[in-house]
Amino acid sequence: MDRPLRIAVVGAGPSGLYAADALLSQDDVPVTVDVIDRLPTPFGLVRYGVAPDHLSIRSVREKLDTIFDRPGIRFLGNVEVGVDLSWEQMRGFYDAVILAYGASRDRALGIPGEDLEGSIAATDLVNWYTGHPDMAPDAFTDLLARARSVAVIGVGNVAVDVTRVLSKAPDEIEHTDMPDHVFAALRGSGVREVHLIGRRGPAQANWTTKELRELGELTETGIVVEEGAGVTDPASARAIESDKATARNVAVIEEWMQREPHAKARMIHLHFRCRPVEMRGAERVEELVLETTELDDDGRAVGTGKMHSIAVDVVVRSVGYRGLSLDGLPFDQDRHVVPHDEGRVIGDAGPMPGLYVTGWIKRGPSGIIGTNKKCAVQTVASLLADAQAGLLGSATDPEPRAVDAALADVTVVDHAGWVHIDAAERSLGAASGRERTTIHDRAALLRSAGGGH
Ligand code: NAP
Repeated sequence: MDRPLRIAVVGAGPSGLYAADALLSQDDVPVTVDVIDRLPTPFGLVRYGVAPDHLSIRSVREKLDTIFDRPGIRFLGNVEVGVDLSWEQMRGFYDAVILAYGASRDRALGIPGEDLEGSIAATDLVNWYTGHPDMAPDAFTDLLARARSVAVIGVGNVAVDVTRVLSKAPDEIEHTDMPDHVFAALRGSGVREVHLIGRRGPAQANWTTKELRELGELTETGIVVEEGAGVTDPASARAIESDKATARNVAVIEEWMQREPHAKARMIHLHFRCRPVEMRGAERVEELVLETTELDDDGRAVGTGKMHSIAVDVVVRSVGYRGLSLDGLPFDQDRHVVPHDEGRVIGDAGPMPGLYVTGWIKRGPSGIIGTNKKCAVQTVASLLADAQAGLLGSATDPEPRAVDAALADVTVVDHAGWVHIDAAERSLGAASGRERTTIHDRAALLRSAGGGH
């Protein structure tokens, strides 16, 4: 081919940007890359997932931003593939497409009462407090003002984030980049009790020790272990024996069990070995019914039939993210991922030439940000090998300006536009003594991208 390969990466989160980086940091196959995102801003879950008070993890975006300094890369923000650009057009413009659009939706519990007012998805709560443009500013204001007691279902890192954000005193979180309406809602929040609920034991929890430990270090919030934290069953003993991280997690819980109980105005309650079976309430959630569980030999939760309930005003379901299918593309409906072989998308008739996948939509919602680097490197290696073997299709309209012409009616945010947004957010933050304040409103983001205020 006498021109660089034209590649589109769909999704500007860590997985998409690591794929772009892997493509542009090799010399074997000349490439140019368009990173396309339906949001006006890059960085995906680093912006709209990582907790606002985890400043060092959020600072990964500065590193990711340097990928846009590489020659041959463009950012096309505020562009939705399948809406603003059809898949037919994508095939004409690009020799290969890498899907990196992540797993953005929540998973349901499938229990009665789940649709009651006050039952919310962690994905929505996280989107709201990080200033995602799809969330209404007042989405949770009234709910938090009315609430006193919240249950968070699931014992992964997202559940820990949500518990910490809801439990902290407002002045412990006001230095972050959350939008002002979120601060106002958290200041007006009546939440004083957060119940974190795991259907298995502490040795089976998915959180990482550093994140777990933070829950016990909050200055204005106490922590108490309520039930089911024993680890003498064979499955837990094996898990502790064979995995140092599990042993560390269990040690943290055991240390909390030894602590002198002292009540604080804000409390976190840890419950293990109980699974949610029903949410009850006349119009909104008032009660969460839990069934005590036991662990079988393989460490699975088995119901005992013994029920109890806790009075709660809000239930946050934090039981994992879920990827969505795209029209006409292969999808594994059980695992909610795009089927692949080393990153090559697999359709009914085998690998689909020129179509690749990376990140959470490839392997499911697990791992830390860095896990996406290795994942992207594998996908890009497959793509480059296919290019060298002549297995890619050839774009019929490979000029970047052809994409621009197709998007003539869309307000595309390029990287210079993001730099304007970045500056506007920093200046908004500086006005109230913060490093940054996230602009949540899509129209305001687009205005800022154009250099307006
Ligand atoms: P996760 O780690 O998969 O945890 C999901 C939790 O939900 C598990 O405890 C699971 O329990 C529980 N669960 C699932 N179905 C349930 C049900 N029907 N009833 C009760 N509990 C149920 O998911 P996540 O917390 O959303 O995190 C996603 C990924 O992002 C993880 O890799 C996480 O480490 C990462 N992340 C990292 C950070 C950080 O590093 N600071 C922050 C946020 C997220 P079982 O094990 O029993 O299924």
